[in-house]
Amino acid sequence: MLSYSTASVWLKSPAAVFTANNEDAKGGVVIRGNTIIELVASGQTPKTSIDHYVDCSNLVMTPGLINTHHHFYQTLTRCVPGALNKPLFPWLTFLYQVWKNLDPEMLYTATQLAGLELMLSGTTTVADHHYVFPQGLENGIDIQVEALKVLGCRATLTRGSMSLGQSQGGLPPDSVIQTEDVILADSQRLIDTFHDRSDEAMIQIALAPCSPFSVSKTLMQDTAQLAAKNDVRLHTHLAETEDENTFCLKKYGMRPLDYLESCDWLHERTWLAHGIHFNPAEIKRLGEAKVGIAHCPSSNMLLASGICPTVALEQAGCNIGLAVDGSASNDCSNMIQEVRQSLLQQRLSYGAEVITAERVLSYATKGSAAVLGRHKIGQIKVGYQADFAFFSTNELRFSGVGDPIAALVTCGAHQVSKLMVAGKWLIEDDKHNQILQDQIHQKHQQLAKILQSKVP
Ligand code: ZN
Repeated sequence: MLSYSTASVWLKSPAAVFTANNEDAKGGVVIRGNTIIELVASGQTPKTSIDHYVDCSNLVMTPGLINTHHHFYQTLTRCVPGALNKPLFPWLTFLYQVWKNLDPEMLYTATQLAGLELMLSGTTTVADHHYVFPQGLENGIDIQVEALKVLGCRATLTRGSMSLGQSQGGLPPDSVIQTEDVILADSQRLIDTFHDRSDEAMIQIALAPCSPFSVSKTLMQDTAQLAAKNDVRLHTHLAETEDENTFCLKKYGMRPLDYLESCDWLHERTWLAHGIHFNPAEIKRLGEAKVGIAHCPSSNMLLASGICPTVALEQAGCNIGLAVDGSASNDCSNMIQEVRQSLLQQRLSYGAEVITAERVLSYATKGSAAVLGRHKIGQIKVGYQADFAFFSTNELRFSGVGDPIAALVTCGAHQVSKLMVAGKWLIEDDKHNQILQDQIHQKHQQLAKILQSKVP
C-alpha cells in the first residue's frame, strides 16, 4: 500500500472533477498526509512544492461517496425466496425468523463483504444500522468495528435496538430483543470505547432504535437524552410506508412525525431513513428542525414504498443524504448506481431540469456528510480529508461521452478504478490492495447458505 505521511502529492489533471462546491480543481488536487492542501485550477500547476505526482488523466474524480443507511448483515439474505415480492411488513416478519439465527462470524463476514461492495463502488464512509442482537451477538458493534478496520474505510456505526417483541405486539421474535437497561448500558459503553469526535475520525457511534414502533416510548426518550448527553447523533427508520401511518394512528392516535416529536427527537441531531410519507406541514417542521434524511431510492422502489420528496425537504431546510439501504431490500450495495437510481426516480417527481447529475452526486457526498454530522468530508476543498473516488471512463459504456460528470451517473458507472481514504490508496487497479476479496466472497457464500437453511 502506498501512503504519504509527510510528502506533498499532486493528484494530477483528472479528466474531470466533481468537487461538490463551486471551486475549480480541474488541474487536480494536492494532498499532504490525510488532508487536501491545495486545489489546482484549470491549466495551472501547484503553488506547493511537490514530492510526488499521480497521473489521473483518464479518471473522473469525485469526493469519496458517503452511504448514510445500510444493514450489512442483510447481505446474507439477498433474494431469499420467501421474502421476494412482498411489501415491508410481511417481508420483515418473514425475515426476522431467519435473522434471529445470526452469529458473530456471519456478522463479521457480512460487514466486510458489504463494506467492500460499497468501497468498490466509490464509497469512503459507510453508515450501518445494526439492531439484531440475538444471544451470543451482544458485542455486534465491536465485531463490526474490527471488520471495518481491516477494510480501512470510515464508518458511522449505529447502535440499533429493539425492545418490543411479538409477545408485546411488535414484529420481531422475542429472542432478538433486549431489555432497555442492557441497550442503554451498551450504548454508553460503545460511545466511550469507539466514538472519535475529531474531523479525521475513522469510527463514530450513533444511537438508533430500529423504528419508533419496535421500542417503548421510554427507550426512545432515554436514547435521545443519552445522545444529547454524549453529543452523538440519533437515527431511525421513519415514514417509509403508508402502512406505518395507519399503524401509528391506530396504536398511538397520531402520525409518525408527531410521535417522533413527542419522544424529543425532532432536532438537528436526528437523521431518518426513507422519509417518504410526510404531508406539507410535516415537511416544513422537519426543515425547521434541520432533521437529516437518508434517501434510499432503490429500496423504496423495490418494496414499492413510495418516493422521497427530496427537493421539498431540501427547500424546507433538511439535509438530504443518499443510501443503498439493507441488502435484503435493494439487493445490492452499489453506491454509484444508487446515485443513478436517485436521478431517475426523482426526475419523475421534479423533472429533468431540476434533478441534475450534480444534484444527486451532491446528495451522495456533501449532503450525506451533513446528514452524518461530518464537517471535513464530502467535498473537495482545502482543509478537507483526502477521501476520493476515481472512475475510469475507458469502458464501452462511456465511449463517445461529452460531459464526463453526467456520464458517471447516466451511463451507469459501477466500479472505481482507484479509491483513496485519509490519504491512503485502498483500491488500485480495480481491487482492494490489503485484503483477499475471493476469501471473503467464498466465506460469505458459505455462511449465507447456512443462515438461509434456517428459513422457516
Ligand atoms: Zn433500513
